[in-house]
Amino acid sequence: MKNSLFKRMTESKASYKKAKIVGKVQEKIKEGIENYRSATDTPARVDVYDVIEQVFAAINPTIADEGKISVDELSGCLRNAYLDRKDPSESTHKQMVSKIMEKSALSIMEKPLEGQLDAGSNVKIVGRADRVEDETVMLFRSSETLPEMPHPEHFIQLNSYLYMFDKPEGVIIYFDKEGNEMEFIVPKSEKLLHETKRRAKILNTLLKNNIAPAIEPSERCMSCPHNEKCYYPNEDKQKWGFWARGKWRELKPKTSLL
Ligand code: SF4
Repeated sequence: MKNSLFKRMTESKASYKKAKIVGKVQEKIKEGIENYRSATDTPARVDVYDVIEQVFAAINPTIADEGKISVDELSGCLRNAYLDRKDPSESTHKQMVSKIMEKSALSIMEKPLEGQLDAGSNVKIVGRADRVEDETVMLFRSSETLPEMPHPEHFIQLNSYLYMFDKPEGVIIYFDKEGNEMEFIVPKSEKLLHETKRRAKILNTLLKNNIAPAIEPSERCMSCPHNEKCYYPNEDKQKWGFWARGKWRELKPKTSLL
């Protein structure tokens, strides 16, 4: 088991080198697009922003069936998942491009497999693991800095796939922009599966009854398209001088507005 896992890890390292090159090319394309848009008012014959929106929609499919809860939904903020289905907010192009880049740079190493898991009470957990091998499930994630411990949502995701595909253990592999990597071998956890199923059933109940879940304050809120619905309206933030010159400012009204 360990030897075959090591072999696959070696293969994944080789693939990652390719992914790194793809990532760099994508960064350049993004930079070029942004420079072009800011340097000219000439309307593009093919609007690249339409393409971004189409690709973003393709990698973020919405699930209409309230009896199906995706692994991504239940491992993140439940309120976000609820609002995405009931009251979607428009993502900025920057948010969309970031997600596309994150997904596409590592997708070269994927061999995805879709599956589902019974959560009870007529609720199904559905998802797509990045890579499923004979004895293990792999999750590839990018990170600004390599973590000392896997992110909690990645524990939930991997554990869901271990039960979905009946594998004893899996590996979460983080890559930073420099090409460094950190791997965590994680065994199955029945306790975590129980909590995961609970979250799926809670979201299902709230969706059926049109009740928005409570806010779940975290780092994710900073780039969440629903931020305005959970905290302050954007026009108030501007009025108070938040985000002036791209930086946070003191949380109090300007003198002229008093
Ligand atoms: S802003 Fe935060 S609490 Fe609100 S939906 Fe987004 S992630 Fe959840």
